[in-house]
Amino acid sequence: MSTSPAVCPLCAQVHALNPQELPESLPCEGCGVTLQPRAHGAAVLLEPQKAGPPTEKPEVEALLAQADQERKPNRAYAHIQKALEIDPNSFAANRALLYHGRLHEAIKRPGDYSVIKCYLLNVFEDPASYTAQKLDERIKELFFDPLLARTATLSGDEAGFLPTYLRHLAREYMRVFVRGRNTVSRGAFGFSRSADTVRQRCEQIVAHMVRNVSAEPRLTEEQRELVSEALAYGLDATN
Ligand SMILES: [Zn+2]
Repeated sequence: MSTSPAVCPLCAQVHALNPQELPESLPCEGCGVTLQPRAHGAAVLLEPQKAGPPTEKPEVEALLAQADQERKPNRAYAHIQKALEIDPNSFAANRALLYHGRLHEAIKRPGDYSVIKCYLLNVFEDPASYTAQKLDERIKELFFDPLLARTATLSGDEAGFLPTYLRHLAREYMRVFVRGRNTVSRGAFGFSRSADTVRQRCEQIVAHMVRNVSAEPRLTEEQRELVSEALAYGLDATN
């Protein structure tokens, strides 16, 4: 049986494969990626294997479910930490830690919500309340948090994770900080506003945030689009 050379599309490592007897998959010694060989006439084509959603250990899933149910942030954090001890490379556990932020740390000053991850988006609602240095830091954290990079890698869909993460933060920001705000949900004398009025006020706030996103020189055009799209999603998801 003759073999034919097949080239890894990622690192150009050459693999000698028999087109009649192809394995289901083969690990590339060159780059470590799992490749899927496909016969193409006498030649063999190699493609990186599509990673499905990462599989999680049942103990990890159980701990993360507990963390989800937990009302006390420090207890939720303990469950997430335990899950990470069992499997430091668990996508779901790293994502849970990323979304948890520093919630387990007590809020130090009243009105300081910076321990809440989604509050990063407040820079687009109220940029004037930040110093230039704080704006730099917060926008950098929004996009370049090492834990975000790690979680994106573990997700198996590095490019797809960033929009998912931004949508999650936007939905949380809308839920916790916009809809939950008294001036949005209640009118004078504490009367609840009608659903229509609340929706209108939420839309106004998001429109204002999107304008600030568009005018923010620290963001690239692509980042502006991602954040604006996420805010629109957050508005829809909480309406
Ligand atoms: Zn390779």
